[in-house]
Amino acid sequence: MPANSSPLDHSVYCNFCPGYCCYKLPGSTLYITAEDINRLARHFNIPDGEVRKRYIEGKNTFKTRKDGSCIFLANGPLCKRCSIHMVRPRQCSEFPYNKPCPYLYRQDLLEKIQPKIEISHAGGHRDPPLRW
Ligand code: SF4
Ligand code: SF4
Repeated sequence: MPANSSPLDHSVYCNFCPGYCCYKLPGSTLYITAEDINRLARHFNIPDGEVRKRYIEGKNTFKTRKDGSCIFLANGPLCKRCSIHMVRPRQCSEFPYNKPCPYLYRQDLLEKIQPKIEISHAGGHRDPPLRW
């Protein structure tokens, strides 16, 4: 890990991360509130019930794709971003709650990001892939 990078500074890592927080991983839960649903309903100009029907799985989480990604994660080859960024759920906008990102403490997940950061710090890439 570069001396000037630490999982404590997750903002650096977010730029290189595939967005683990946007995937359904063991032990993680995205909790959607009624307020979140209403915000989406106003955004899409549809009733709250229609939001639930289209996007909600069970009572309070978003549907996911086969690979576990949130249905609102736009997965491009050079760009991974939330397609509803401006109206995303509160949990998404607050995560990781001014604390170190917990996913970066999982060695298997960190190992997939670290080489990209090393290359960037070595000058291999000037611009990290845009994520958010
Ligand atoms: S999992 Fe952590 S490092 Fe990755 S995008 Fe989410 S907050 Fe950033
Ligand atoms: S709503 Fe956006 S930020 Fe939240 S999990 Fe889905 S893609 Fe990620």
